[in-house]
Amino acid sequence: MYKKQLGNTGIEVTPVGFGVLAIGSTQLNLSIEDGADIIRYALEKGINFLDTAQYYRTYPYIREALKGTSYDPVIVSKCLDSDYDDMKYAVEEARRELDRDLIDIFLLHEVRSEQDFNYRLGAWEYLQEAKARGLVKAIGVSTHHVDVAELVAENPEADVLFPLINFKSMGIRKGHGFGTKEEMAEAIKKAAGNGKGVFAMKVFGGGILINDYRKALEYAFSLDGVHSLMIGFGNRDEVDRIIEMVEGTLDPNYTPDLSNKKIWIEQGDCEGCGNCIERCPNEALYVNDIGLAYVDHSICIRCGYCAPVCPSRAIIMIG
Ligand code: SF4
Ligand code: SF4
Repeated sequence: MYKKQLGNTGIEVTPVGFGVLAIGSTQLNLSIEDGADIIRYALEKGINFLDTAQYYRTYPYIREALKGTSYDPVIVSKCLDSDYDDMKYAVEEARRELDRDLIDIFLLHEVRSEQDFNYRLGAWEYLQEAKARGLVKAIGVSTHHVDVAELVAENPEADVLFPLINFKSMGIRKGHGFGTKEEMAEAIKKAAGNGKGVFAMKVFGGGILINDYRKALEYAFSLDGVHSLMIGFGNRDEVDRIIEMVEGTLDPNYTPDLSNKKIWIEQGDCEGCGNCIERCPNEALYVNDIGLAYVDHSICIRCGYCAPVCPSRAIIMIG
């Protein structure tokens, strides 16, 4: 598979990467062996870009996939914390658990506003230090927010931007409301124009747009300034179809297996603590009239972020 320069980072990536969140405990919850098998298959097929995060707890899959192989993919990880010391711990943890001296790309994970970015300046300071010390090659920000993407586009210290975008604007935020794909596309273009590497997430809106497989991918590939798309693969066939799409050999009549998966809250287990509601980046969770959480499936993008904060493990993916 061909590769592209990721902005001015000096890193080359394939036009599609593997979002490892999909195989982890908050989504498909595959065994380490089964998840590692899909990663290894994707690498074998030429994909060279893997996305993970401290929060996803998916480092063991990557480590297992690479064990005994000569594959040397570009790995991006990220951390939700705000403090210098917590980010230092996260980078060290990634180096240790992935068994790598250098992490290619490390990000502030899911920055929600300029205020949030400023609140996390300690963590940002450590990322700059880690880069200067050669522990990390490139640094940046992942975000669902147009305002943050615009901020990163102009930030001279940021090497990369990892924004959410899809043809239906699902999950794009701006301030306290919703943003549009046009606004995010403009921020992406500006970032790439300023030399940032850009890789996009949620091009299928967390699986909900999978019905429009071609349209979703064609839209994302057409975006000016996007160097790669992170896709969450759940099996080998999904890897094959994406590669055919990239190579232009996908059966024109291809329609994916419709995923019936959805986030589900076991009302019998829910304690009504509200953690998930606070954690949801998309305001898709509410309290119902008996004080328990429920999901608005028309808004939920199945990112899986809510599941790990549930103290009673009431949040599951079904289908
Ligand atoms: S309810 Fe919110 S946090 Fe949970 S999967 Fe849906 S969008 Fe993500
Ligand atoms: S985090 Fe779990 S227990 Fe708390 S409100 Fe959400 S589903 Fe219920």
